[in-house]
Amino acid sequence: MGAKTIAVLTSGGDAPGMNAAVRAVVRSAISFGMNVYGVMRGYNGLLNGDVKEMNMRSVSDIMQHGGTALFTARSPEFNTPEGVKKAADFCREKGIEGVVVVGGDGSFRGARDLCGAGISCIGVPGTIDNDIACTDYTIGYDTALNTAMEMIDRIRDTTESHDRCSVVEVMGRRCGDIALNTGIAVGAMATLVPEVPYDFERDIVERMKAAQRTGKRHYIIVVAEGVGHTQELTERIQAATGIESRATVLGHVQRGGSPTLRDRVVASRMGYHAVELLNNGASNRVVAMKGEQIVDFDITEALNMPRIFDENLYRVSARLSI
Ligand code: ADP
Repeated sequence: MGAKTIAVLTSGGDAPGMNAAVRAVVRSAISFGMNVYGVMRGYNGLLNGDVKEMNMRSVSDIMQHGGTALFTARSPEFNTPEGVKKAADFCREKGIEGVVVVGGDGSFRGARDLCGAGISCIGVPGTIDNDIACTDYTIGYDTALNTAMEMIDRIRDTTESHDRCSVVEVMGRRCGDIALNTGIAVGAMATLVPEVPYDFERDIVERMKAAQRTGKRHYIIVVAEGVGHTQELTERIQAATGIESRATVLGHVQRGGSPTLRDRVVASRMGYHAVELLNNGASNRVVAMKGEQIVDFDITEALNMPRIFDENLYRVSARLSI
């Protein structure tokens, strides 16, 4: 028997497209004849009783906006056995049998714990970093890529005018996907990712000098957040090459903005799939994308999968960065 009353929450770091996922969950649930609650501020809403009953109109006009209309939070209180039990008791009190959690790996660990306390949970991957091992794609990634690309195009204009080198830090603490893809898209001279160690002389200085000999006068270097020390690296580049160098950290600009078509469509498909799973009586699953297919995995298995870095794409990037 599937769940009759479900809830949806967004948790951890926000990502453009989360609203499309929430909308899809609410509308799919209603279409399956379920009652559906929106939980405010991640797991905190289950601890504080901050939930609202949703209808078809509750999710009107949210899909085109970045951020999340349900707000999000990190909840240290939920991340304790007592917190998980309190949240599960609240769900039982409200008749909530299933919860769709839109968030990253941390949020999925919370969902697994809530399942352990007797509430069916389904995870939907929402994070701009694309750092979830079980899925080829996470909601918000495409918007973040396009924002980073647009911002770096703007930086290039001024870098070019001044014959400078710009070192641009993009998001991605453990995962270089944003850096790798935007690096290719903006024609970066070098791209540094946390997955591949780099040699300062060989991968940056010598490349810049070689490019300079072929007439190149301005340079873009893309660095993933997880590589770190962007300001220090920029100063080293200037000292080693004599080329005026500036650091830019794009930061949270990459988390906002209207979601792209891809994010809206993938989020809608994933939200629908999550509700279909709950309607079929499934629990402890994560929705994922493999190729262009929407699939699902056991949460524990998904959390244990190793993340695979696209070495091929990295090689392509290295060949083109000259
Ligand atoms: P993300 O989901 O983006 O990875 P976090 O790692 O901050 O973000 O996790 C979001 C929230 O999920 C945390 O604030 C906490 O409430 C919950 N959470 C994270 N890890 C666990 C865990 N091991 N057990 C229970 N809840 C967790």
